[in-house]
Amino acid sequence: MNFSVPSEHYDVIIVGMGPAGASAAYELSLRGLSVLAFDKQAHPRYKVCGGGLSARIAKILPPDFPSIVEESVHRVQFTYGAQESFLIQSPEPIAYMVMRQDFDQWLVNKARQAGTTVHEDETVLEIHNREEEVEVVTKQGRYQSRVVIGADGVMSMVAQQCFPGRSLIKIPALESEVHGEPLHVFQKTPTALISLQAAKKGYGWIFPKREGLSLGVGEFVKGTKRPKQSFRDFIGDEPLLAGLKIPAPLGYPIPIASAQAYRNGHAWAGRLVRGRTMLVGDAGHLVDPLLGEGIYYAVRSGQLAAKSVTNMLSHPAIHELSDYERLVDNEFGAEFRVAGRLGKIIYGLPRSVHRWAGRQFPDAYQRVLNRYCEMLQGKETYQSIRNRILRRLHWPFA
Ligand SMILES: Cc1cc2nc3c(=O)[nH]c(=O)nc-3n(C[C@H](O)[C@H](O)[C@H](O)COP(=O)(O)OP(=O)(O)OC[C@H]3O[C@@H](n4cnc5c(N)ncnc54)[C@H](O)[C@@H]3O)c2cc1C
Repeated sequence: MNFSVPSEHYDVIIVGMGPAGASAAYELSLRGLSVLAFDKQAHPRYKVCGGGLSARIAKILPPDFPSIVEESVHRVQFTYGAQESFLIQSPEPIAYMVMRQDFDQWLVNKARQAGTTVHEDETVLEIHNREEEVEVVTKQGRYQSRVVIGADGVMSMVAQQCFPGRSLIKIPALESEVHGEPLHVFQKTPTALISLQAAKKGYGWIFPKREGLSLGVGEFVKGTKRPKQSFRDFIGDEPLLAGLKIPAPLGYPIPIASAQAYRNGHAWAGRLVRGRTMLVGDAGHLVDPLLGEGIYYAVRSGQLAAKSVTNMLSHPAIHELSDYERLVDNEFGAEFRVAGRLGKIIYGLPRSVHRWAGRQFPDAYQRVLNRYCEMLQGKETYQSIRNRILRRLHWPFA
């Protein structure tokens, strides 16, 4: 493939070099396109995030991914009351823990090595989406390209300028990190905790890292409870955090995929592609609405965007990028819809009902949680778990 361009013109410009932008840049450069990528910060940069990756991500990342993994988690403890919990264990990793500054820098370096030109500390201010090209304006200059990928996160300026009128759901989340000796029991094992008790309509987490713990809370139903209060209650009530000096948390919104993105069961056209611009990762609200997992979907949507852009630029008969929306719907659409419905049930039920159900049906609870961990490993999907549950519920009446 030969995509020759004049010097300040590029095939693709990418705004934002988090996991979504860096993955798109890497794939596009590997395919021989000329790519210019901007980030308003310089890597390594801090990002408010738990840094928990579902184990299935290993299948879609470059093979030296283990070099930046802090911990491989084989045990996940689910609690719904301080004393009550289920422990899931697996000989294969269920999740990987990373520090976001290291993970993101590793991905940016991959893109650079593949040929992407990276401008750090350069904020994109304006996008002009024209019929024949897109112009990107920063304080330092003006740049043209055939396609622009908006990978600029939850507060995406690309989405604001090129996709006006979107009103999707952002939920509040808070995160803090504890460093220091002695090693916490969760680091020694290593184990991750998901606590339904920690939030009113969401959950709290404790993730083990090499030098400490990441912990936080997310409230997944808007307006239920102030997350600061949830965070205070979590660190006050959770015995596993007793005695730790926990720094004040930092807050950031999570742009979960919402039912509003779907009409009549299908995602609406034009939500991820308009003219020559497209949205990936958080900018496109591609986050699992049940757990708030966003990194897997950021990486994968960056890869799908790269595929669609390459198709368009290498086939003169293809004039649009809407193929990308179809690819995203095929991979995530139905999954997000099921996850959203499960979230409504799980977060909607009072915690007392979870406690009661956990005591009455411990085997069923354990089975569902085992399946959930298998989903994180890539062996199950939300849809297959839902179908199993439905089959079991229907069985006595069959
Ligand atoms: C408290 C919290 C905990 C979380 N924990 C997890 C977790 O454990 N696991 C998980 O999978 N997900 C988690 N997430 C979600 C996850 O952080 C995001 O889904 C993920 O970062 C999305 O990646 P991205 O590349 O789309 O965006 P980002 O990682 O936000 O990257 C966007 C990049 O764009 C740059 N940028 C922004 N505006 C401009 C501009 N105008 N010009 C140039 N550059 C710009 C930014 O500097 C940034 O580098 C969490 C989120 C929160 C808030």
